[in-house]
Amino acid sequence: LEVIRAVEPRVADAIGAELADQRESLKLIASENYASPATLLAMGNWFSDKYAEGTIGRRFYAGCQNVDTVEALAAEHAKELFGAAHAYVQPHSGIDANLVAFWAILADRVESPALKKAQVRQVNDLTEADWFALRRELGNQRMLGMSLDAGGHLTHGFRPNISGKMFDQRSYGTDPATGLIDYDKVAEAAREFKPLILVAGYSAYPRKVNFRIMREIADSVGATFMVDMAHFAGLVAGKVFTGDFDPVPHAHIVTTTTHKSLRGPRGGMVLCGPELADQVDRGCPMVLGGPLPHVMAAKAVALAEARRPDFADYAQRIVDNAQALADGLLRRGAKLVTGGTENHLVLIDVTGYGLTGRQAEQALLDSGIVTNRNAVPQDPNGAWYTSGIRIGTPALTTRGLGTAEMDQTAELIHTVLNQTTSGESKAKYVLDPALADTVSKQASDLLAGFP
Ligand code: PLP
Repeated sequence: LEVIRAVEPRVADAIGAELADQRESLKLIASENYASPATLLAMGNWFSDKYAEGTIGRRFYAGCQNVDTVEALAAEHAKELFGAAHAYVQPHSGIDANLVAFWAILADRVESPALKKAQVRQVNDLTEADWFALRRELGNQRMLGMSLDAGGHLTHGFRPNISGKMFDQRSYGTDPATGLIDYDKVAEAAREFKPLILVAGYSAYPRKVNFRIMREIADSVGATFMVDMAHFAGLVAGKVFTGDFDPVPHAHIVTTTTHKSLRGPRGGMVLCGPELADQVDRGCPMVLGGPLPHVMAAKAVALAEARRPDFADYAQRIVDNAQALADGLLRRGAKLVTGGTENHLVLIDVTGYGLTGRQAEQALLDSGIVTNRNAVPQDPNGAWYTSGIRIGTPALTTRGLGTAEMDQTAELIHTVLNQTTSGESKAKYVLDPALADTVSKQASDLLAGFP
């Protein structure tokens, strides 16, 4: 920090403050974690200075032998860990991984002479007419994904995201009574809509997904089956999700982030079989520029960590902790979407406390508990204010908190939500500052045992 401070002290201060915040508040954001020192150090080094467009052994720059080493290691660890035939570790983030996958599927599936030419090696042969044909053909393709308010992700064809502009999208939701995916309804939607791509995966669905059934649905309509396991990759890596609940044997293509339950650096990754491997490897330059060699080095380290036996224990504890947190909240009267959890996350419907998600999120933050507001199915408050609070256990589990501490955490969350009242707008709320201070102190005391 002193080296940074000599150049821009405000950045050094912000880094120090971030460390203090992450140490002292209950970090319950379901998509966050604490990467290991080895992973962080692998990311902060001279690899950051190197350009390496292309793929292993086929680069557009000289001097890439060390980048080749770390990229190959990261891919090898990913393949071994997930049992995949091919791994592409260049995507800078989850959204990039999804874009790589979409383009690979389009290139594989759309019968278009123009598209075939548009592959990098013949791109100069494209005529003006080819370009028009290409846009027309691609603009007509269909995607079926989980709806946003049921827990799907923006990148699965929703309008604010480029995927929503690339595809004609329809979504499947969850059963209004149970909050669970109704596979018969998904099959019905697939039969009616005939998508090119069926997407499974979520950001806020607190249950397991049966990928065998989803693949059968995809096959029945000739769709390519893609799974975005960004949130639960750590549970797949740790063999908590196996059989029908492991996406890798069932999907044609799997994307993920590396920084959530997988506990690696910020980044993305694509896994697939040999049929799509060549298209996926064209991610650069189709969707990506130069890869981030320092992040690929950190991916290799984090994936090596995830291959150790203690990672399976970690993954199981994530789920045990989420269940303990859900049970603790239910016992105190909270309303949970789907009535519980089978993975790393819990979605509280805070209308049960007379609050919006926005009010609840801020009241918890005042009390040293960091969460995020999230839509619930058929949310009456829309995507900005929302009616839910999403909480997840990967980060606190990394610190070593167990089921007893989850019950204490449930008590703190319930106390704050129960004592907060709605204010004059969907963002305003009333919470006694003395209570917020007391809970903050209790949260930091709880964490002090897990430095
Ligand atoms: N896919 C899913 C299911 C996600 O939950 C997220 C991020 O929250 C992403 C993709 C996008 O990841 P990133 O933020 O790395 O682009």
